[in-house]
Amino acid sequence: MQIKLSFLGAAHNVTGSRFLLEANNIRLLVDCGLYQERKLQYRNWEPFSFPPSSLDAVLLTHAHVDHCGLIPKLVREGFRGRIYCTPATSEIAQIILLDAAHLQEEDAEFKRRRHERENRKGPFPEIPLYTTDDARASFPLFTPVNYQEVVPVGEGVRATFYDAGHVLGSSMIKITVSQQGENRTLLFSGDVGRWDKPILRDPSVFKEIDYAVIESTYGDRIHQEPADIGESLAEIVNSTWRAGGNIIVPSFALQRSQEILFHMNELLLDNRIPHLMVFLDSPMAINVTEVFKRHSELFDKEMSQLIRQRKSPFDFPGLKMVQTADESKALNHISGTIMIIAGSGMCTGGRVKHHLVTNITRPDSTILFVGYQAVGTLGRSIVDGAKRVRILGQHYPVRARIAQIHGFSSHADRDELLRWITSLRSAPRRVFVVHGESKAVKQFGRFLRANTGWKISMPEYGAEAFLE
Ligand SMILES: [Zn+2]
Repeated sequence: MQIKLSFLGAAHNVTGSRFLLEANNIRLLVDCGLYQERKLQYRNWEPFSFPPSSLDAVLLTHAHVDHCGLIPKLVREGFRGRIYCTPATSEIAQIILLDAAHLQEEDAEFKRRRHERENRKGPFPEIPLYTTDDARASFPLFTPVNYQEVVPVGEGVRATFYDAGHVLGSSMIKITVSQQGENRTLLFSGDVGRWDKPILRDPSVFKEIDYAVIESTYGDRIHQEPADIGESLAEIVNSTWRAGGNIIVPSFALQRSQEILFHMNELLLDNRIPHLMVFLDSPMAINVTEVFKRHSELFDKEMSQLIRQRKSPFDFPGLKMVQTADESKALNHISGTIMIIAGSGMCTGGRVKHHLVTNITRPDSTILFVGYQAVGTLGRSIVDGAKRVRILGQHYPVRARIAQIHGFSSHADRDELLRWITSLRSAPRRVFVVHGESKAVKQFGRFLRANTGWKISMPEYGAEAFLE
């Protein structure tokens, strides 16, 4: 048996997922993600370590930009094969790639002007990594496949997608390689979701696998869970309502925004909060929510029941989708308590900045954080208790209530990762731990080895493994 697996990204770091599988003269790329860590972004500009035209197919686990964000570059540089993924991933990835391309174009223009003004040169060229045209050129290659459907990707190589329970359409991918009457199975975990989350089904589990590549984003941590997300949310909505202010929720477009709507819908149905207006003020989140509506076949039991009873969280009385910038500005003139869910999730851009400007100085308003805030972002400094913050070039005192609800994470933590991988009935030949900061990779690798006695590898960036 001759299979070569190369670790070209998400190796001792969390973004830029990219794994090259070579067997039977076939070359497959599992994920083609963008590096997002500042110190690793230079890798986005480096040439691919293989000619993109030599690649037979891309298998995409899900639509997060750290898994799909380099596809337009791959296509511009010659890739012409198919990009296999689930129908929902295909639709969401196209929304996300267009947005990423827009950001690249804006960024390049902004840097060009600044460098011109300051008469200096930056470390990267002042051109976008790829354009919206590059992103669009990749769309015809997307080839939707359903969960559980066996996809022949080449001579003696087939792939099957399974629900990962991470975001809508997310997958774990099993690849079976056949050589001289023998089979080997490789399982790529993608991002492992969690059990009992709203809307989505639980992560798929497997009984038998030869090789597994497992993520470890939270491999060194246990999630801090609130007693009840609904309870915390109800308290925040009710107290802000009594104070007469607004609730501003900086949120990611994919999954998090839909989960907030799910919880708000539930609280409204149970009459635990007053009937306030809820505005989803993000064209990207609105487009993603449309994909959710089109793919109700992916919902878990509870969510399917809500849809059957016509109690959809994407369609409740008081929910308004805000498309244009003018409509968004008009929200400032509404009196009485409203909730505005807007991007970006860490307040680094998007419409949420305008809503922060009008609400952060109001003691009766609440800024509610529902996601991870990376160091160096505006969201992080607000969460960390900054007394004054700079938004859109102006300084503002922070007088609003700052609230945070934990428990929304869509990544399995250390114990959930262990639960997922130990559903295997027998030891795999080897497990590769990837997609985590170096510390998380090492800690989870040791933890997994101690708990199972299995062969565990923690491949470095660029490492190659020859599988038998
Ligand atoms: Zn993800």
